[in-house]
Amino acid sequence: MKQNNIILNGIAASSGVAIGKVFVLEEDEFLVEKKEISGIQIKQELNRLKDAMDKTKIELEDNKKELSKVVGGNYAKIAAAHLLILNDPMVKNEVIKMIKEGVNAEYAIHKVVENFSKTFDLIDNDYFRERKHDLLDVAKKVMRNLLGKTKKSLSNLEEDSIVVAKTLTPADTVTMKEVLIKGFVTEIGGKTSHTALVAQSLEIPAVVGLKDITHQVKQGMSIIVDGNLGLVILDPSEETIENYKREHEIQISNKKELEKFKDLPAITTDGREVILGANIENPEEVRAALRHGANAVGLYRSEFMYLSRKTMPTEEEHYQNYSKVAKMMMPYEVIIRTIDLGGDKIARLGLMNVGREANPFMGLRAIRFCLKYPEIFKAQLKGILRASVHGNIKIMYPMISRIAEIKEANRILEQAKEELRKEGKKFREDIEVGVMIEVPSAAIISDVIAKEVDFLSIGTNDLIQYTMAVDRVNADVAHLYSPMHPAILRLLKTIIDSAHAAGKNVGMCGEMAGDPAYTVVLLGLGLDEFSMSAVQIPKVKKFIRNISKFEAKKLVEQLLSCSTMQEIDITMKKFKYRQNLL
Ligand code: PEP
Ligand code: MG
Repeated sequence: MKQNNIILNGIAASSGVAIGKVFVLEEDEFLVEKKEISGIQIKQELNRLKDAMDKTKIELEDNKKELSKVVGGNYAKIAAAHLLILNDPMVKNEVIKMIKEGVNAEYAIHKVVENFSKTFDLIDNDYFRERKHDLLDVAKKVMRNLLGKTKKSLSNLEEDSIVVAKTLTPADTVTMKEVLIKGFVTEIGGKTSHTALVAQSLEIPAVVGLKDITHQVKQGMSIIVDGNLGLVILDPSEETIENYKREHEIQISNKKELEKFKDLPAITTDGREVILGANIENPEEVRAALRHGANAVGLYRSEFMYLSRKTMPTEEEHYQNYSKVAKMMMPYEVIIRTIDLGGDKIARLGLMNVGREANPFMGLRAIRFCLKYPEIFKAQLKGILRASVHGNIKIMYPMISRIAEIKEANRILEQAKEELRKEGKKFREDIEVGVMIEVPSAAIISDVIAKEVDFLSIGTNDLIQYTMAVDRVNADVAHLYSPMHPAILRLLKTIIDSAHAAGKNVGMCGEMAGDPAYTVVLLGLGLDEFSMSAVQIPKVKKFIRNISKFEAKKLVEQLLSCSTMQEIDITMKKFKYRQNLL
């Protein structure tokens, strides 16, 4: 049989190549048709409704048992709450009434839920308003059973599955680790979307931004994901498969080659040593970080603890989590970023407006969320403070845009310390506190900020997004996302110089720090710490060990005098050619 070997171009989101079979993860949406019914059909429709509800009840009960067995009681409460909604006579009676008036069950559910949702929207209490989503979840489950659709879930995957979806949430990607998928492809997303970042941590090859891909594939068809070049090949020929198998082997041997650098210092040829750290999302990733030679956790994205659950993590859970990481990383530092929920990291905690904002990346995100809900923030701070006695922990606030936010966050930190003192719980009084510089306003006043804090860390993923007005998850504008734009280089220089003038260390934990293409520039700018996906550490280290700080500094002087990206590009190419780095 002749293969089509269709090559599609997307955005390379996570490196590596994978060969496997398509697993289309469909969205949980249904098109609801309105059908007029009468006479005997009404009785039949009521029976259909009853069957679907009975099935849903069994599913929810199974789900409740399974959840409490696997992850504990708190998660099982979600299924229990859904059972309560399913059994609620108010919604059910409304649906029955509409069917009796002459419409099909699907349409009746759709209409009733829509009306109830509107009522929920009027409730002046965030927690109760958010219960709307539980009602919608239950309605979808009943609808699926009415339509006889079986829910595909990531746990049904075969071993060589490559997930193809419209979009995946960061929480979906985390699940992929448990079910060992080989790669994924999505229609939506950018290189620095959090879904892509999780894929990098998990070392899953991924291509994003492939419009309409879910309609071009068939369940089970052969597919290759090339996360290095951002290509997807559908129905590949034998020859292509052989080429990619070879590519895969080369990658494995390159990886082995890079492992040799694991225990060597990240030092330039003229003796400038920098710290290379790992970005992690959960304690399980520490082992991989150490395996790749990390000398720090430069960014612990703590909000991932919130993403796949509906209840708030407790102070004790925070404490346990961070203690584990701090102990494993000893004596190296662990920078715990306080929760950065919002943007593309939407938690279903029933507390916030995120997910319903017109511009979530500019909305109630990160420190803004924490200052709006100080009790949630304080619980995390207390957990971090208590864990600080077990290692070298530092605190970092995300998305700071003004001095007042630092002062307010520090005030809550003092409250947390005071409460712990009263409770007789130990913590490090002198724990260091730093901030992320990822909003242009913060970059511009970084001289003032540097005096207020112990360290700075540059979040280029957001800094570039906000400076260039390029949504980091929008594939249509991904080509405008430019780390080497003169504006970005100038901002980086401002931040690094400001930190040094105040005698503070400055790191970078955005993706730019983990891309060897920019290593020489960051070295030349004087960056002290680089934090990245663990897999990138050996690649960046190899680079650092091959260049001199002196040459890097000279290059940066030239780059800063360039007026366009084109000039910057030519200057970079000439430098790399001269240094034999191409
Ligand atoms: C950044 O913005 O560069 C960063 C490291 O934080 P995040 O990617 O989690 O927004
Ligand atoms: Mg950020």
